[in-house]
Amino acid sequence: MDDKTFFTKILGIHLPWFVKQVVVNEKEQRVDVYIDHERDIKVRCSQCKEFYGLYDHAPERIYRHLNTCQMATYIHVRPPRVNCPTHGVKQIDSEFGENGSDMTFAYESFVIQVAQECSIEATGRICGLSWDRGWNALERAVKRGLARKAHRIPPRIGVDEKSIARGHKYESLVYDLDVGTVEYVCDDRKQESLESYYKRFSQEELAGVKAVAMDMWDPYIAATKAYIPDAKKKIVFDRFHVMRHVLEAVDKVRKDEHKQLSELGEEILKGTKYLWLWSQENIPEWRREEFDMIKAKDLRVCRAWAIKENLRHMWDYRYEANMRKYFKRWYFWATHSRLEPIKKAAKTLKAHMDNIITYARHRITNALGESVNAKIEKIKRFACGFRNRSHYRTAIYFHCSGLDLFPCPPANRTLIFKTVSTQYLGGTH
Ligand SMILES: [Zn+2]
Repeated sequence: MDDKTFFTKILGIHLPWFVKQVVVNEKEQRVDVYIDHERDIKVRCSQCKEFYGLYDHAPERIYRHLNTCQMATYIHVRPPRVNCPTHGVKQIDSEFGENGSDMTFAYESFVIQVAQECSIEATGRICGLSWDRGWNALERAVKRGLARKAHRIPPRIGVDEKSIARGHKYESLVYDLDVGTVEYVCDDRKQESLESYYKRFSQEELAGVKAVAMDMWDPYIAATKAYIPDAKKKIVFDRFHVMRHVLEAVDKVRKDEHKQLSELGEEILKGTKYLWLWSQENIPEWRREEFDMIKAKDLRVCRAWAIKENLRHMWDYRYEANMRKYFKRWYFWATHSRLEPIKKAAKTLKAHMDNIITYARHRITNALGESVNAKIEKIKRFACGFRNRSHYRTAIYFHCSGLDLFPCPPANRTLIFKTVSTQYLGGTH
């Protein structure tokens, strides 16, 4: 088998295309494969999919392909152009790699697979690409994925803010809570940020939203009330965010008390920060004895901790009325605790109670699947390598949106022999 036949087979080349020449450069460890086509052909218009005569050729394109053994391999082709009576002179849909890409379908798919597992720098190193070329493949993948994505607003969504890098810059993220994907990413965490998502949908589509999980963040509340019909019953404040307010209060009580005790030479609270913040069942075995010992003392942080642990039961209720009743009792206890941070947190919760108890019915939070959260955290860690915010957004779509990212060759042949009837080739008369 000569090298032309060999490459015809492994590249899956079919007439009227053929391999014209193969150049193996051992010194540079590189293979160049030149593809040409027979003369008497018809060319498919990329718009109407009809076959017409060959017009001319676009300049030669060189596509990076998967290695042949260890040698970097390149495909050279001059894409034919058609002169369509309806659409004018058009380049064909390329059978080798996407128009606008310098990689074959197979190579670009490989780059995407590597990028799904690695940082963009590592992808570049493994695939032998510059940062820019690697990044372009990612951007094209996301663009392709978003174009293929069905237009729909999920019935249960989560709205969340993520800080990026330093400097108090935020992005707003919208999740599909049922599927566990990031649906939308945009700059800032203002009312307009979230509205830019809602604006993409008709009133009818927006009415299909059943519940929205979010933090107690006024701009998101306002945006949702402005766009989602009956939002008052649908907004659910994220229980972890709600609990965070109380946890921060517990921590404040501990810090203040530790400071006071230290001044008296008592270090009992030293190194105990997380003992008070962890849920009781998560306290590691080896620290339980120590924790029980501290709890036996009459400390303010012990009371704060008990109040916090007690509030956790509120989330078990399945009826709003019962949840509200439980909260009322808790609220009385918290506000009579003489612990200022706890009192303050309790008041914040009370002000938002109407949309905390909606949890009883909807039972949603902003916690996505572990894997999606881990990916977002990883992207945040890589964020210093991103040159701007749009890169950060692209990375989130790439890793967390469940998009169909891979390029695919045209479904039907783009060249045929003049003598072949077009009747059986699809997309023609
Ligand atoms: Zn046409």
